[in-house]
Amino acid sequence: MLQPFLVLNTVKEALEWRASVSLGDKKLGFVPTMGALHDGHSELLRTAKKNSDFVVLSIFVNPNQFSEGEDFEQYPVALDRDLKIAEECGVDVVFLPSKLDIYPENYSTFVKELVLSEPLCGEFRSGHFSGVATVLIKFFNIIQPHCAYFGLKDAQQFFVVSKIVKDLNLNLHLEGIPTVREKDGLALSSRNIYLSDKDRELAPRIYEELQKIKEKIFLDKTSSSSILRVLTSSVFTLERIGFQVQYLKLLKLPYLERVENISIGNTYLLAIAVYLGNTRLIDNIIIEYI
Ligand code: AMP
Repeated sequence: MLQPFLVLNTVKEALEWRASVSLGDKKLGFVPTMGALHDGHSELLRTAKKNSDFVVLSIFVNPNQFSEGEDFEQYPVALDRDLKIAEECGVDVVFLPSKLDIYPENYSTFVKELVLSEPLCGEFRSGHFSGVATVLIKFFNIIQPHCAYFGLKDAQQFFVVSKIVKDLNLNLHLEGIPTVREKDGLALSSRNIYLSDKDRELAPRIYEELQKIKEKIFLDKTSSSSILRVLTSSVFTLERIGFQVQYLKLLKLPYLERVENISIGNTYLLAIAVYLGNTRLIDNIIIEYI
């Protein structure tokens, strides 16, 4: 018989629960999500369960991280299924606040990281990372976890939040979990269900192309001018077969700096955002150049 979990529907309930729970030496792990859970989320939950004594899952579709014209209204909701997955993964507490509870009338405080939030998704989704950062800081304050678990599928989000945790001296550890993929390489995403059959067939080409670029740049030890040439040629290839590429960039980690030349001992992020029809997909690979 699986252990039932506690559901907290309001910030007040969550604060009262957190004040009442005495952890002693026990560790509290936290997995923030927007719901419509899949195996990528389950991997975060299972890792949290392995590493901690209590696991809190939050499900909240955060309006402030969607820009105008994006899919906030259409974002998939699957609460019954999510709760089943939560139970299977051994979640102890599910936090399910409402929009009005998180952002009451006259809400006016936002957190903004100024450097890592600028490139990649930041360039095309104005206010996105400030929306993410704000809701996460609120959740960190409410839940007070020892460790929060994030997927490296959203690598920029992980590095932005890590920088905020460092800059603001937040007392928690962040753990980045490798991207969980379908057998054909497509990164799991709540938005994959919106792909038409034809687009679903095309979608694995994203990860294939990232791997080809990695080989070309890091095995051929390409010069900076040819880094750009390799990326441009991949954009061309993807667009020819039906993708609309929003960005395809190689940046240096952990601060997402522009790359002039690759050099041994550094770690790089190769990141892409594309549209297939109306569905926006992102993916990346992290490359340790050793
Ligand atoms: P979301 O519900 O899309 O906001 O995602 C919640 C968390 O799950 C984030 O930390 C994501 O990076 C992570 N996540 C989403 N998809 C995957 C995946 N395919 N593999 C690993 N983590 C993921």
